[in-house]
Amino acid sequence: MNAKQWMEEADQVLMHTYGRYPVVLDRGEGVYLYDLDGKRYLDFGAGIAVFALGYGNRAYNEALKRQIDRLVHTSNYFYNVPAAEACRNIVNATGMDRVFLTNSGTEAVEGALKLAHKVYYNRYKRADGEIIAMNHSFHGRSMGALSVTGTPKYREPFGGIPGIVFADYNNYNDVASKITERTCAIIMETVQGEGGLRPAEPEFLKRVRALCDEKGILLILDEIQCGMGRTGTMLACEQYGVKPDIVTLAKALGCGVPVGAFAAREETASAFVPGDHGSTYGGNPLAAAAVNAVFGLFESEHILENVREASSYLGSCLEKLMQKYSCIRECRGLGLMRGLVFDRPVKEIISSAMQNGLITFSAGTDIVRLVPPLVIRREHIDEMIEILDRSIEECL
Ligand SMILES: *Cc1c(COP(=O)(O)O)cnc(C)c1O
Repeated sequence: MNAKQWMEEADQVLMHTYGRYPVVLDRGEGVYLYDLDGKRYLDFGAGIAVFALGYGNRAYNEALKRQIDRLVHTSNYFYNVPAAEACRNIVNATGMDRVFLTNSGTEAVEGALKLAHKVYYNRYKRADGEIIAMNHSFHGRSMGALSVTGTPKYREPFGGIPGIVFADYNNYNDVASKITERTCAIIMETVQGEGGLRPAEPEFLKRVRALCDEKGILLILDEIQCGMGRTGTMLACEQYGVKPDIVTLAKALGCGVPVGAFAAREETASAFVPGDHGSTYGGNPLAAAAVNAVFGLFESEHILENVREASSYLGSCLEKLMQKYSCIRECRGLGLMRGLVFDRPVKEIISSAMQNGLITFSAGTDIVRLVPPLVIRREHIDEMIEILDRSIEECL
């Protein structure tokens, strides 16, 4: 079957939850993807900030193949070596004390919310804790994670869990005004991704941390998109000198193998006792082996150094592009997590870039989101700018 026939086939059997681009991706190599017809695309989407190491990394692939031949799954009623190593790697990378491995970012958020409620329950023997979440946030699509997602369009048809209060991101007074004696946690992304590539302001995050300490409230930082080196440090919050009580990770954590994690400091993590939380697949040896391969490669391929170097170059290139086009209003973001804010919907620009061989995503309707693999080099940035420039020109 050709690409068109595969797309027709998929449209008949997949639930209609995505507006997909008319491209059937087939294979990847480094920072390039190829479709079924062999057309090449420079990838500035990384499968939504997932594929940090580039495609076809030999060491990563070999580690997975070795684990597949050894043991893929055990259940969590037994110990397994890769999971122990993965949790140690996450403890070392986050400064947290204990980790629970999940299958996705959404489940990491879900677990973090449950842990916060359990801490509150242990303290007050009541299950009526409130959580403050941010407007324009994105935390996932399950009923709990969706309930703290600050985009009404995603949330409203589905009801959601009670006890969620929204406040404006980067508005300390608004957050402070939403606190009640029932508030058990504040959840936010250190850098908002889907909601517009907006970093927390340093003063805001520091004051929220201090407020949480003062009131005995847990701070949950969702680093699913901005963590794992994307901003130049392992966690974005390191750059703020702020440590959360619970942190969530996913996306680049397994670089494509579905895995997420939530990690907490001991005094918070100890609220969970056997029976409180679980997952059949969570942290299975294959997913854990992917996590360990990723951490190993972050070291051996000097990923953080590359992110810092590439992101300062990317920043200056985007500034130049913004000078050239009055339809670009703003250039936002941190590290290799950038957004170009246009004065119009960007759907057409993204489609035109795709035709010209560049994959990007939108964030909201008017932002072009650039979240490339963390191994990109200057020449790839030059190539991206050249294609994007041409594609914008075509859409004016
Ligand atoms: C992608 C994302 C999630 C959800 O992760 P999934 O793996 O899609 O379930 C949660 N929070 C943030 C910040 C994200 O970017």
